[in-house]
Amino acid sequence: MDCVIIGGGVAGMRAVLSFRRQWPDKTITLIDTEKEIGYYRTLLPQFMNRTLPENKLFFWQQQDDPRVRVISGVTVESIDRKNRTLFLSNRDSVQYRRLLIASGGRPIVPAVCRTAGGEGIYPVRSLAVARAARDWLPDHPQVVILGGGLVGVKTAAHLAGYNISVTLVEKEKQLLPQALSKEASALVEAELREKKIRLLLGSTVEDLRFNRGALSGVRANGAWISCQTLFVAAGSLPEVAFLSDSGLLQDGRLEVAASLQTSDENIFAAGDAVTIVDNGAFTPWTWPQAMVQGSLAAANLYAPTMSSLRCLSRVNAMNLNGLSLAVIGLPVAGAKRSVYSRPEAGIFRELYHVDGRIVGGALLGDISNAGRLHSLMVSSEPAGTDFNELLRPRLDSFAGTTSCCVKYNRRATLLSEGA
Ligand SMILES: Cc1cc2nc3c(=O)[nH]c(=O)nc-3n(C[C@H](O)[C@H](O)[C@H](O)COP(=O)(O)OP(=O)(O)OC[C@H]3O[C@@H](n4cnc5c(N)ncnc54)[C@H](O)[C@@H]3O)c2cc1C
Repeated sequence: MDCVIIGGGVAGMRAVLSFRRQWPDKTITLIDTEKEIGYYRTLLPQFMNRTLPENKLFFWQQQDDPRVRVISGVTVESIDRKNRTLFLSNRDSVQYRRLLIASGGRPIVPAVCRTAGGEGIYPVRSLAVARAARDWLPDHPQVVILGGGLVGVKTAAHLAGYNISVTLVEKEKQLLPQALSKEASALVEAELREKKIRLLLGSTVEDLRFNRGALSGVRANGAWISCQTLFVAAGSLPEVAFLSDSGLLQDGRLEVAASLQTSDENIFAAGDAVTIVDNGAFTPWTWPQAMVQGSLAAANLYAPTMSSLRCLSRVNAMNLNGLSLAVIGLPVAGAKRSVYSRPEAGIFRELYHVDGRIVGGALLGDISNAGRLHSLMVSSEPAGTDFNELLRPRLDSFAGTTSCCVKYNRRATLLSEGA
């Protein structure tokens, strides 16, 4: 096999497209634990509330490229690098010349949610689990969501209002604590409260109770909340345990250089699974990054001269069921902050800057000009002194933001999430 890819998420599928374009005659094999590959993981909340039919979730189908050999519903259990062989859960083995690991992440499930057993608990990550939750919800509409990060907030925003009551439990005192300033997150909190979502900030799930094997309550902050469904969205960890005997992990991390090559010259990796070591260690945990990395890693597999990732930002745009949100870059402690705020219109825009250069920021309610602001940040170009003018909303397209993430003008078309 010329190229074997582990993982059919966005990083793996972008790798298929990129590899096929560059080396049309080489063979590709893709292996995934899940039965379905090539779907928008980001749209699972809209699938669960039934506004998005299952067939609209997929951005790639086998008939798009019948020459790709897809082995789905099968897990790679270990790697023998000396013999370039993968061992699979179905007892088969697959050989590779070049390997691309795009095994993504797995949800963190706190012990209290793991040990209890019983029906009604759904970690938010895979289509199979989302499908089960979708069938369960109509008869079990009192929902608690554990985790006020991106996945928890999106899930809450899209479930509320569909005959479902939602309580969101977050251990920090604000939502999206890793992505937004407190002031910016206040707008998200107001939007969710407007949707009748109950927010328990500074709280965590302490205990669960069950009635005849099905969830009937969750205790948070010492008080029991009656509920039949618990979504666990408490963060993710890179899915790399199957590499533990491969010699590829450093302190449990799958580290790659900016070219996305691992410590083995024949093995590359991309997306949520990797830790990029380049001026620090970094896992972006975003769809646009996984997409750009999948393309780049595949292009580098046989390239005589490798390209490098230039941008490691967590740029991200989404719609929280009515509220648009673009994260240009995370808040930066010690940087100056400029703000444009029109609370009456539900707009809040902020930029962090150091010496006239943008280093982070977020746009809520109106995400216009996000592309240009992100480009300025990535290029470290001086943005001028008039940040109030820069922050003023205007017409712009966000789609250009990812193209600047790869050197040598590599085109990175968004597999548009449409979220
Ligand atoms: C509900 C939800 C909403 C989200 N919303 C957003 C958003 O709005 N914006 C954003 O930027 N990001 C969002 N994200 C995060 C985004 O989806 C991820 O960053 C992105 O999907 C990572 O892509 P990936 O290809 O690296 O990994 P994944 O999409 O996780 O794909 C990895 C694949 O590898 C397979 N795999 C793992 N181990 C093995 C193995 N040993 N053998 C075979 N196969 C294996 C898995 O089954 C999986 O299919 C969201 C995530 C969720 C769950």
